[in-house]
Amino acid sequence: MTASPSLVLDGLRAQATDLDARDPLAGYLEEFVPAPGVTAYLDGNSLGRPLRSTADHLSRFVADDWGTRLIRSWDEGWMDTPTVLGDRIARIALGAAAGQTVVADSTTVMLYKLLHAAVTAMPGRDEIVVERANFPTDRFIAESVAAQTGATVRWVETDPIAGVRLTDIDATVSERTAVVVLSHVDYRSAALADMAGITAAVHRHGALMLWDLCHSAGAVPMQLDAWDVDLAVGCGYKYLNGGPGSPAFAYVRAELHDRLRQPIQGWMGAADVFAMKEGYTAARGIRQFISGTPPVLAMVPLSDMLDLVERASIDAIRRKSVSLTGLVVDAYDRLLAPRGVRLLSPADPAQRGGHVSFGHESFREVTRLLWRQGVIPDFRFPDGIRVGLSPLSTSHREALEGVIAIHAAMDAQDAA
Ligand SMILES: *Cc1c(COP(=O)(O)O)cnc(C)c1O
Repeated sequence: MTASPSLVLDGLRAQATDLDARDPLAGYLEEFVPAPGVTAYLDGNSLGRPLRSTADHLSRFVADDWGTRLIRSWDEGWMDTPTVLGDRIARIALGAAAGQTVVADSTTVMLYKLLHAAVTAMPGRDEIVVERANFPTDRFIAESVAAQTGATVRWVETDPIAGVRLTDIDATVSERTAVVVLSHVDYRSAALADMAGITAAVHRHGALMLWDLCHSAGAVPMQLDAWDVDLAVGCGYKYLNGGPGSPAFAYVRAELHDRLRQPIQGWMGAADVFAMKEGYTAARGIRQFISGTPPVLAMVPLSDMLDLVERASIDAIRRKSVSLTGLVVDAYDRLLAPRGVRLLSPADPAQRGGHVSFGHESFREVTRLLWRQGVIPDFRFPDGIRVGLSPLSTSHREALEGVIAIHAAMDAQDAA
């Protein structure tokens, strides 16, 4: 016997309300700037919401650090902001010791720098292994580095829902591989890769491993040091809420600092920035991965969010994330599966990151309807809706109302 639609909705709403009442992180919802007219923001994995405290911090930064201290602020802290903030990201979100993480550039540029450095550090190896389903920037950068270094891109074919598996790696990586580039969490399916196992497999083949953490940093705990990761890049404006154009971060394992040389040699990554000498000598340590003047202003919001992530703890954030995606999958089972919607994410929460994707041929039009009514997921070509659930800024009720709105928009579509 199937329950009547309104009983199903009542049951799900009671479940969501109960989960919110027991959510130890519920208090953090108040920390974010409210968005009038938005009933469900399901895109915090693409652009995190601003914190209320950030407006104040930005105006103080303009009045004091910039406005009053003027250029003296470079000596009084700004020069070290990229590495100080990098160390905090490392400690709070990456499971990495200090001195290996820097904040600068965009993910795209950082990826280029690290990938180029990795390929040129591996003479005798001429292949870059990349997932064919990876995010466009990762594929395009791999192709550009290959073209510039004489290497070849070797594509890994993966299951669109389960994502990359150890067997895919063992079938593709060889003694010709210089470096492997993979996403920790797949931007479409949210499939969570086995970072420790895959890194170890890549090392058995003698290659370097570069992880893209854009869709996991700030949502999924990791242990970059313990898992022997060589290189990683990640985004500052997704789960780290740094705001549009906020810089990326890069992690380079300490043992590699003397072996790698990044290709964009600028004065800010030189050993003595103000010597104005002839010829470039790279700085020691992680500083060498900086090129030009770092975007200090854009690091203010990122720093505020890191405070919040630290207070909440990345493990508690992951627990809430699992709870949110679990509720959304429950609601899918009751409301959307019977309508022929496909689940495009792993059903097992241990196998997925912080978002859930669904597929249906009506979803381009459904997304348009949803945006008009203040329900904001994103649409992924050709027929996917991605429901992003940033744990500190999203309630269970908000997540559920998003799924209910998808269901209602499908009804409206059918009626039209
Ligand atoms: C969001 C994202 C990027 C973004 O790169 P930008 O240089 O910040 O535009 C790169 N890679 C992946 C996997 C992403 O999800």
